[in-house]
Amino acid sequence: LENRASLLKKLKLKRTPKREAMMDILAGEPHYTTPEEVWQRMRQRFAKIGLPTVYRNLEELAEGGVVSKVLHPDRKLYYFYCPNDSHHHHFICLSCRKVEDLRSCLTEGVESEVEGRGGTVLSHIVQVNGLCSDCRRKEDAA
Ligand SMILES: [Zn+2]
Ligand SMILES: [Zn+2]
Ligand SMILES: [Zn+2]
Repeated sequence: LENRASLLKKLKLKRTPKREAMMDILAGEPHYTTPEEVWQRMRQRFAKIGLPTVYRNLEELAEGGVVSKVLHPDRKLYYFYCPNDSHHHHFICLSCRKVEDLRSCLTEGVESEVEGRGGTVLSHIVQVNGLCSDCRRKEDAA
């Protein structure tokens, strides 16, 4: 992950080996992961790192918008990294935890509805949950 230094700078977070390692772990992973899984991998490099440190760092990176948090129906905490910083939304597979970028935005109808009431939309959060093509095929075959 080349731009991690500038990302951390933008967030006014100090560049530490731990933060950088954490970003590398998330950047190399096309699936959303739990803090515990990040912790397991971090321990291979930082033997003494505690789970609370991993939680705190992930939360800091999420607050800064560097990593994204998943709102999962199982209510567990998951994070992922997406390098695409233009406005877009994510499709997440509930079975294999894959994350895909979506091209469409799904909000046009909502904006006109809000405007019809005299209001205006300033921002929105959309996350689409489902089964990816691989998992859907598996389900159909089963
Ligand atoms: Zn899947
Ligand atoms: Zn994305
Ligand atoms: Zn959108």
